[in-house]
Amino acid sequence: MHNAAFDALDMRWRYAAMPVEPDRLPEAVTRIRGEDYTGANVTVPHKETIVPLLDGLTPVAEAIGAVNTLVKRNGKLIGHNTDAAGLLADLAAHGIGLSHRSVLVLGAGGAARAVVAGCAGVSAKIRVVARRRTQAESLRRIAPVDVFDWTPLGLMQASDDCALIVNATPIGMSPHVDASPWIDGTPFPLEAFVYDLVYNPAETLLVRQARAAGLRAATGLGMLVEQGALAFELWTGNTAPREVMRRAAEQALMIADF
Ligand code: NAP
Repeated sequence: MHNAAFDALDMRWRYAAMPVEPDRLPEAVTRIRGEDYTGANVTVPHKETIVPLLDGLTPVAEAIGAVNTLVKRNGKLIGHNTDAAGLLADLAAHGIGLSHRSVLVLGAGGAARAVVAGCAGVSAKIRVVARRRTQAESLRRIAPVDVFDWTPLGLMQASDDCALIVNATPIGMSPHVDASPWIDGTPFPLEAFVYDLVYNPAETLLVRQARAAGLRAATGLGMLVEQGALAFELWTGNTAPREVMRRAAEQALMIADF
């Protein structure tokens, strides 16, 4: 996705994966501080443990407590989080407004924290369902959230009158494509938009369940592209070629499916 963007803008930059064992994270950060790098993305399991190794965080990354993008500014390595803004940008592209509406978040890990921070930032009321109640309650460090049980009744109560339901668990991700976080047979609310952060496969079981119930639904590919586009803009100062990035991401996922 990023290399396609560099090529489209005739930039002689390269984006490459750097697998890092947890005990070698400080070494990797030292390498990124070197002249060859302008920045980096950070993913599981380093999004939180990298924080003390950086020179500072943006207020959004600080609120979420996790970093997905590193940017060098005046010799300092700053941790950003573009997941929340990426989600909001993709929801806006789908015409979803959240101000003073209720949002149900399924799961309470790193991505859920970004979802909660993003939705709280646009004055949404947030409800959470997670298999560990204590983890769901810990989201209150970011914003007020109401916690419900992961049962048919809990899901019905939590999703009542919701504008948006977000799956922030990996349930349904390839190769476990027959799984869904939505308990089979539980009715969906009448008008919610269902957003599955999982983007592989191209259509998850949750998205199919929601569409079969007459709801609009999308996977998280748009958020993936948006969070990447925002990181690209932070590193390069150029407007990201989002269509090029989306096509490259779709192509990579198609190849990964075979
Ligand atoms: P994470 O930090 O590991 O959190 C996952 C959450 O899901 C935790 O609350 C976890 O509970 C729960 N969970 C996992 N397996 C479960 C199961 N079988 N049943 C019930 N709950 C389960 O992962 P993450 O970083 O938040 O990522 C979550 C998903 O979002 C991943 O699929 C990731 O690829 C996707 N994601 C997409 C985007 C995008 O741009 N579209 C961005 C970020 C993440 P426990 O802690 O109890 O295991």
